Amino acid sequence: MRPNSQALKHRSSPDTEREFGGTLGAICIPIFLPLTVLFLICVSQCPDASVLQWPPPLPSTDQLWDHLAPVLLLGWIALHALLYLMPLGKVSEGLALRDGTRLKYPINGFHGLCISGGLLMLLLGLGAPLGHLFELLLPLAVCAIAVSFLFSIYLYIRSFWAPSHALALGGNTGNPLYDFFIGRELNPRIGKFDLKYFCELRPGLIGWVVINLGMLVKEAELRGSPSLAMILVNSFQLLYVADALWNEEAVLTTMDIVHDGFGFMLVFGDLAWVPFTYGLQAVFLVVHPQALTALKAAAIIALNGLGYYIFRKSNSQKNQFRRDPTHPSVARLETIATATGKRLLVSGWWGLVRHPNYLGDLLMALAWSLPCGFSHLLPYFYVIYFTVLLIHREDRDERQCRAKYGVAWDTYCRRVPYRIFPYIY
Ligand code: NDP
Repeated sequence: MRPNSQALKHRSSPDTEREFGGTLGAICIPIFLPLTVLFLICVSQCPDASVLQWPPPLPSTDQLWDHLAPVLLLGWIALHALLYLMPLGKVSEGLALRDGTRLKYPINGFHGLCISGGLLMLLLGLGAPLGHLFELLLPLAVCAIAVSFLFSIYLYIRSFWAPSHALALGGNTGNPLYDFFIGRELNPRIGKFDLKYFCELRPGLIGWVVINLGMLVKEAELRGSPSLAMILVNSFQLLYVADALWNEEAVLTTMDIVHDGFGFMLVFGDLAWVPFTYGLQAVFLVVHPQALTALKAAAIIALNGLGYYIFRKSNSQKNQFRRDPTHPSVARLETIATATGKRLLVSGWWGLVRHPNYLGDLLMALAWSLPCGFSHLLPYFYVIYFTVLLIHREDRDERQCRAKYGVAWDTYCRRVPYRIFPYIY
């Protein structure tokens, strides 16, 4: 038995360690972030597109509500729930839970992307007005925010029927506001349907590329054809989403699935924040066309390619090492032992910095903004936000690794002193 998991297993009192600013964060974030989503969409659709304009643009009730929006949103979620249940792809086991059992997960997210993409192409061919998503963006975001709140309330209430070993260790503080925000239950399921795993990569992530496609169609309607900048933004972000779903199994070992409870933080992130803020560049380009020379486009493609290469190679190397450390592709890498029996890589990508995958992700994020030129700050929202998110996430992960691996983690930090950016941070 590993010493750390032994300690966790016997910890029965409510966990009092708070993240994201504790109770204050749990009150402010669910108010502030939904307003930010609506604000950013409004600004990106404005001719000024200035995040600093005062007073900020206020949408009318007509702009915020459309009867079609809840139908589309709930229909989209239902379609993906159906695709999740289809007997496609393999079934994988997650990591061992605290009671020693392992949950099973269908690895069919990529099928979901292809099938829903095919259906969308069919609808486009039949003349469906996909460009209307531009006008529907605010009402859809309002519905996604409402669904996030209602769904989180459901998750919070049902968590009181879950056995104590099924609760996330950090989500059981006894403070209702904080627990609602951070999530009490680790893997809430209805039968075999895993609610957290379903939301993590499907309706929101695939919804994001559908919104992007809607913006491309809108631009083509307005100007005759999509611009090179719009094509680049769509292609880069489609590659990112397709990659995540192609490697869906890897999500089973992430902090979100293994450590975090399923509460407002993840629900809102998956269903509202990702689809409505990650693709703001495409929304911006509909109103603010950008001319891009072939040379600039080539440089941006090269940057995205470099970021993707670092991101994919480093993630694959760690996943391969964790699945089978004797595999020829990782067997010769230098490692250090830890008291848990697991080893840590200190050469290869994980010898360059302690989070090479974050470095690659951030280079890609920059490449997604550059097609929008330098006239506005708004298209850079994602890369700025993502830098803050990954620095915070890296810090959370370091704390968890230090608790898990003790002195071995300190040795790793001495051997690989930089966290994300070589020689900088
Ligand atoms: P990581 O893939 O970075 O995994 C961190 C874990 O890896 C650690 O907890 C530890 O777990 C293991 N590990 C750390 N260092 C080593 C080492 N030297 N050798 C072996 N194992 C090590 O986790 P994330 O979930 O944060 O990121 C996954 C990907 O998702 C990243 O590419 C990230 O950029 C991306 N991401 C994207 C987001 C988005 O919104 N677009 C949001 C969050 C992440 P253990 O030892 O227990 O295996």
